[in-house]
Amino acid sequence: MALAERLQRLGTETAFSVSLAAAEWGAKGNRIFPFHLGDLNLATPSNVVAAMDRAIADGKTGYCPAAGIPQLREALADDIGMRRGLTYAPNQVVVQPGGKPVITKFIQAVMNPGQEVLYPNPGYPIYESQIEYFGGVAKSYRYLPSATGFSIDLDQIRSLITPNTCAIIYNDLQNPIGAESTDAEREAIAQIAIEHDLWVLSDEAYFEMRYSGTSKSIASLPGMQERTVILYTFSKKFAMTGWRLGAAVGPVEIADTIAKLNTNDESCTTHFVQYAGVEGIRGDQTEALAMLDVLVERRDAAVSVLNDTKGITVAAPEATFYLFPDVTDAMAIVGTDDLAQFAERALHATGVSFCTRRHFGRPQPGEDRQYVRFAYSGIGTDEIREGLGLLQQWIGSF
Ligand code: PLP
Repeated sequence: MALAERLQRLGTETAFSVSLAAAEWGAKGNRIFPFHLGDLNLATPSNVVAAMDRAIADGKTGYCPAAGIPQLREALADDIGMRRGLTYAPNQVVVQPGGKPVITKFIQAVMNPGQEVLYPNPGYPIYESQIEYFGGVAKSYRYLPSATGFSIDLDQIRSLITPNTCAIIYNDLQNPIGAESTDAEREAIAQIAIEHDLWVLSDEAYFEMRYSGTSKSIASLPGMQERTVILYTFSKKFAMTGWRLGAAVGPVEIADTIAKLNTNDESCTTHFVQYAGVEGIRGDQTEALAMLDVLVERRDAAVSVLNDTKGITVAAPEATFYLFPDVTDAMAIVGTDDLAQFAERALHATGVSFCTRRHFGRPQPGEDRQYVRFAYSGIGTDEIREGLGLLQQWIGSF
């Protein structure tokens, strides 16, 4: 007996190994400062929790339509459209158990084996995993450091496209980099997609996790709504990572296909959880918005200590809850050129736990700077100051 060959092409989120290393170090009695988690240590808004309780009491515990309950599809169509200056009909919204399943279902819907899909690297590791698992060719595009953070290497994207390219995955408000496209960059990506007739998966997981300004969607640009599937999730905005609630939003033919995949996979997203989603979208926003005040305070604390640390420089993103500092010089100071070793030594010396660039894809040719990712979603401001203060002292001690 053997397992299926395609499993050799299935990737994973190697960042989970960082959680394991932190847990092991913590189990030995050491204090851990968790900057590795893309999860939130904030509570789901109480009105959302109450709506789920009501739905259970009302008996919303059986199967429901594969594409989601009509009330949630309607609420999402209104809200997602309104925030992007677009009109979506409820039949263009397909409810999912989280945002992540949109990635695999988009790829299954648009890509034939042997076709090529472009995806960001560093980026969310599931893109590459799913493209390859379904027999596609995963072609990564890179980011270049810029005056304000990072920008996409558009020339590289253009050079990667062949007649066999069917789609591009675009994660504006980026994990792990925290980068946001300028209007010009977003328009250039749209232009490339239109010119080469590509589908676009716009991963908008962090669309509403921002501290100033307004997010823009590539779907809003002329000629883009009909070729774009938006990945929407409740995970971050409503601190609902473990509830598993999200949606795919796009052209009807893809929405119908994704709904059919739902029927084959999970039948439906948990029925009563969808009523909580309706409350999240339509109900009182006070608690959800208050989370952004907490997060921006954390961001400012982390950025301030990191930029005061020898050998570390970091930009302060206006969205997401990730920092992607350049630690090349800090690594030289502590005497290592190995990122994994740097992270391990930092953990053992200070208890500060973080992911590295390597958890978000293989380094690209010519990449000569070293980066790590600090998530400030799962750690309070005082702990941020304390942990990063210890990191600062440790690097300063060499
Ligand atoms: N896309 C990006 C860029 C993410 O960072 C995440 C989660 O961290 C997801 C999608 C999926 O999140 P979820 O499945 O919880 O909605």
